[in-house]
Amino acid sequence: MPFDINGIRIPTIQQDNVASRCRGCGEVIEGVPFRVNVMDITAVEIPPAWSGRTPINPGPFQFHADPACARRWMRERDNLFCRKSAVRELMRPIAIPGETPRWGLCDGLHHDDHEFVPA
Ligand SMILES: [Zn+2]
Ligand SMILES: [Zn+2]
Repeated sequence: MPFDINGIRIPTIQQDNVASRCRGCGEVIEGVPFRVNVMDITAVEIPPAWSGRTPINPGPFQFHADPACARRWMRERDNLFCRKSAVRELMRPIAIPGETPRWGLCDGLHHDDHEFVPA
């Protein structure tokens, strides 16, 4: 809100006005965005057949704090989501072989087998 000093209107200092938009729902993010980084795939084991594939963009990707936004983004990228994990700031990509190889994302905090489900 503008305010007055001695009758002169002083506009409030504008912050850098490039609004962050949520990668999930596309809406402007008010306040601090939730950032997700995808771990470098060179840090995980990749089956040889995958080596020719486009590398994963590590991000960071910005979302609303609602994990539903990040999961929507995963869904749109055709990623699977490990239901033993949660949407966190660092996700690790797991190669899921199949007719159409896909990436699954997991926070990597559990020690048993992944259970990938549609995000
Ligand atoms: Zn959103
Ligand atoms: Zn997992």
